[in-house]
Amino acid sequence: MTFNIDLNSSYIENKINDLEKLTDEDRPYTRLVFSEKFYEARSWLSEQFNLLGLSITTDEAGNLIGLLKSKKDTNKVVIVGSHIDTVPSGGRYDGTAGVISGLCLIKHIKENNIELPFNLAIYDYLGEELNEWGTSCIGSRGIAGALNEDILSRQNSSGQILKEEINKIGGNAKLLNKPLPVIKNILACLELHIEQGKILEDRKIDIGIVKSIPSISRFKVTVTGQAGHSGTILMNQRADALVTASEIITFVNKLALKISKNSNQHFVSTIGKIDVHPNSAAIIPGLVEMTIDLRATSQNSRQEFINTLEQKISSINENNDCKIKMKDIAFAPFVEMDKELIALFKKSSDSLGFSSNIMNSGAGHDTAQLSRVAPAAMIFIPCKDGLSHCPEEYAEVSDIAKGTEVLYNMIENLANLSLT
Ligand SMILES: [Zn+2]
Repeated sequence: MTFNIDLNSSYIENKINDLEKLTDEDRPYTRLVFSEKFYEARSWLSEQFNLLGLSITTDEAGNLIGLLKSKKDTNKVVIVGSHIDTVPSGGRYDGTAGVISGLCLIKHIKENNIELPFNLAIYDYLGEELNEWGTSCIGSRGIAGALNEDILSRQNSSGQILKEEINKIGGNAKLLNKPLPVIKNILACLELHIEQGKILEDRKIDIGIVKSIPSISRFKVTVTGQAGHSGTILMNQRADALVTASEIITFVNKLALKISKNSNQHFVSTIGKIDVHPNSAAIIPGLVEMTIDLRATSQNSRQEFINTLEQKISSINENNDCKIKMKDIAFAPFVEMDKELIALFKKSSDSLGFSSNIMNSGAGHDTAQLSRVAPAAMIFIPCKDGLSHCPEEYAEVSDIAKGTEVLYNMIENLANLSLT
């Protein structure tokens, strides 16, 4: 059944326009998980599921699900979807593009009375973005059984406990100590997402087919010096924690640059969060806390980075009045997407005449969590200037429509495979 790009583009555009209005007014586009605007967006999404005639549930991990039941008596399910939460002042397409393309896909299937031999579910995975509870991908981790009591008991700055928030939105945190039963019925988890980088745009490629998602590590670095009067303590008498921290910041950047140049792998490291204490113009900084974010597709490169950084830290500690400590606070392993689904995505994209590129993802995604327990794969569509996690984030609706057509073709291919 032909997929009308123009018609579907206008549907996608309308839905993006609807959802972008559900933002904290003073800082577009902000829809943090469990916030008032997030709840409003969930009601909007339930309404969309309703309009498509889907049956609506929330699973134990708080994922909102719209289900298109097959006429065949089967529990087998293909899942599409992404997330509708955002980072603070994030964009209108990260996550949203995948959820809306899922709506569009189901609309196309319903309008054309296409019968599928499996159930088709659209998921809004709960809280994909890193949040105040220090975890990302709450819903997809929940499906994979990767939310432990330590994570579930965490509190945010207002004292809200993660597991209570999951229960409030319709989940059941008590049942999250193991993978959810649905995993045994999943035929495929498919996600469409904006690339959040520049490769597709620069090379004018329609579809990125993801082959792997890098490991993500976060380390907390604490530099302890001595606070003091900025006028009276002479330069040679100081233990300025911020000066020592700046050495680490520069070192991390240069080291990551060197490793990424020497390996052909995706390798990036960032220090994007730093707290200076007491953070006052007339006081020498006595304490600095910062977070290193490290993403790598190669375990060797990751280890080389950690070893070299640890050596640097011990040499600073030996020769400096400031003392540095580094602590591992989060880790998500490197994962590869399902090879058969990658090949099928390539076949779908080729058959529709789209150019495609098999590539590594730079960012983490729900699909990384899902791939631990089910066949999973994802595609990227281009986004303008590679910008993401900022209000300027932009993707052409026609590109989302192309990606949706690839998803539809995948569904057809999977249907043919299940019938044979
Ligand atoms: Zn995302």
